[in-house]
Amino acid sequence: MILYNSLGQTKQEFVPFTEGKVNMYTCGPTVYHYAHIGNLRTYIMEDVLEKYLRFAGYDVNRVMNITDVGHLSSDADTGEDKMLKGAKREHKTVMEIAKFYTDAFFSDCEKLNIKRPDVVEPATNCIAEFIDMIEVLLEKGFAYIAGGNVYFDTSKLDTYYVFGNMNEEDLAVGVRDSVEEDENKRNKTDFVLWFTKSKFEDQELKWDSPWGPGYPGWHIECSCISKKHNGEYLDIHCGGIDNAFPHHTNEIAQSESYLGHKWCNYWFHVLHLNDARGKMSKSKGDFLTVSLLESKGYDPVVYRMFCLQSHYRKPLTFSYESLDNCVKAYDKLIKRISSLSKEGEVNSAKAEELIGKFKEAMDNDLNTSLGLTVVYDVLKADANDATKRYVLGELDRVLSLNLLAEKEEAPKESNPQDAEIDALIAKRTEARKNKDWATADAIRDQLAAMKVVVVDTKDGISWHYAD
Ligand code: AMP
Ligand code: ZN
Repeated sequence: MILYNSLGQTKQEFVPFTEGKVNMYTCGPTVYHYAHIGNLRTYIMEDVLEKYLRFAGYDVNRVMNITDVGHLSSDADTGEDKMLKGAKREHKTVMEIAKFYTDAFFSDCEKLNIKRPDVVEPATNCIAEFIDMIEVLLEKGFAYIAGGNVYFDTSKLDTYYVFGNMNEEDLAVGVRDSVEEDENKRNKTDFVLWFTKSKFEDQELKWDSPWGPGYPGWHIECSCISKKHNGEYLDIHCGGIDNAFPHHTNEIAQSESYLGHKWCNYWFHVLHLNDARGKMSKSKGDFLTVSLLESKGYDPVVYRMFCLQSHYRKPLTFSYESLDNCVKAYDKLIKRISSLSKEGEVNSAKAEELIGKFKEAMDNDLNTSLGLTVVYDVLKADANDATKRYVLGELDRVLSLNLLAEKEEAPKESNPQDAEIDALIAKRTEARKNKDWATADAIRDQLAAMKVVVVDTKDGISWHYAD
């Protein structure tokens, strides 16, 4: 399989450290709010990568952290802890917030057919391990204590900007634009491993440490959790492109200084989902969630298909218009598949040939849009229905689009009374607009007698028959 590697910025043949086995790490969500559909684009594409590696025969161990401490409002170690911010917003404790949004995240994943990683580890479970790693970094001279905090000393590295090709100034933007300069840092790119002193003294979660009561920095958690569950050698590290700097750059700095050898060979970064205003982000407040899409009547799996239609290394712009087009395409596709007969024998040579086409697409840097066109090629192929169904089932082990779901029942024949109800509701709306309350009330009683429940929503009026 050929994969684009951010380390080296080229497409490379994927070769794991151990034949047949893949250790994979994914930066998990910061659980101070719902995941937006941008975050979920990243998790969908990572899910496809994991499933494709399994499909290709690898034994995969996928680890994900849950960031429930240490991620400050700026990725460059300044500002308030995002978790504390979330807790204050909702008048809850940090742990209550963490539990609620972790559950919400996995519920969204389930709706999008995203498999749960083999290991999911909250950062707050691993404080002792973080402290151990920081102690070793101090002993080896890669870290220093200043103003009560422990910092990683980036001047001790031969190369800090490992994802190259971008100029230093661009990469340093996150640091330069920080809320304020941290005067304890010896170099502008140094970062915090452990905080005991922060402007925000009301940090709710603190742990004892050799440097005083405090809490870990964000980057150390991923280095440490990956090492804990994947060992010293990692094959693929995943995340959204915004994590490449400073987060992943700092992870590499810590891990390799600690281990004394190369740590991770392949870096898989998913480009952003944008909306009309630019990059979708939690801090913007009014972001799109899976629940919002559902409340508008969209099947979450259609959003998955929307993501698969474009390559993970291209930015993707969300609009309801494109999602509506995807709904039409998905419905048509499922109808076509469900009309395939279940009778007959699978022609295994033909099946292998069609699966080979899919592999060819996916082996080329996970080309999911081409992978999807193979689904249509299968439907058009010169093969019997049983073979087509079998192949589609195989492809769906990776695509997870419920391709073999039974077509929904045709809508029940409409009740001839429905039109009369629509007309009554329109008349009632008109009466209410004219402040003709007597007419409006009379119609309401008439509808109630017909066992009709009228619901006023912000998007207009809907109705249904009472149970
Ligand atoms: P967070 O919960 O903020 O830690 O982010 C979770 C994951 O979503 C990380 O891998 C981010 O890089 C990724 N991410 C954040 N914003 C976007 C976006 N607009 N599009 C795609 N991925 C994103
Ligand atoms: Zn991470």
